[in-house]
Amino acid sequence: MSTTDSTPPFAAMRDHHRRIESMIADDECVGDLMLIGVALARWLDYHLPALAKGERLTWENLGRLVVKPSRSGSLEVKQILKRDIRRYDPITDAGSHFFQSRCGAPMIRRQGPCGGPATRQVLVSDPDTGRKSWLSGCTRHADWFTAQRIKSREVEPARMPFANAGGVLARHFPDIDWPDLYRKLDPQWAPPPEGEYEDDDLLIDRPKLRLILGGAS
Ligand SMILES: [Zn+2]
Repeated sequence: MSTTDSTPPFAAMRDHHRRIESMIADDECVGDLMLIGVALARWLDYHLPALAKGERLTWENLGRLVVKPSRSGSLEVKQILKRDIRRYDPITDAGSHFFQSRCGAPMIRRQGPCGGPATRQVLVSDPDTGRKSWLSGCTRHADWFTAQRIKSREVEPARMPFANAGGVLARHFPDIDWPDLYRKLDPQWAPPPEGEYEDDDLLIDRPKLRLILGGAS
């Protein structure tokens, strides 16, 4: 009897079961990513599909397993995995902050920003954390917007922001060399710093609340 058509050993079945369970419990491991995960688990835990001795799992046979039995399957698999490359996603980060559609120009006679409908927007980096946020300005504050934009370009952020996207499959397959795979998919890839922010005080646009003492002096 060959190893491929025998019942897998209990330990392999248990590991496989745990892996599938952890993927199902992961809200981000869905759709095509889940499909690739199941194929990878089958290959790693059960050695299926059976490969010739010394043969490695290729993009082609992963593509055939997951997407469709044609050469374009490998391209699709690469695209799906590319979207799961561990990285910092500025749009997601900036989108979690408010005032992206409202002008952030500070007002002189009242507290808080202008708040008018923004007619121009650009992503700018926080000088300390490197995190991106939307700089938004209305037509009336176009000069302020331009000045802020130029100012932000002149400052090199003190560090790279923490990763906040991708790396979903890596959570369930510690036995795969993901940095190596990410570099195969994107030769420019470099490991982003990992960590969490203690507070959410980035926000170049966030209004600084201050006490205004009114009345005649
Ligand atoms: Zn404004």
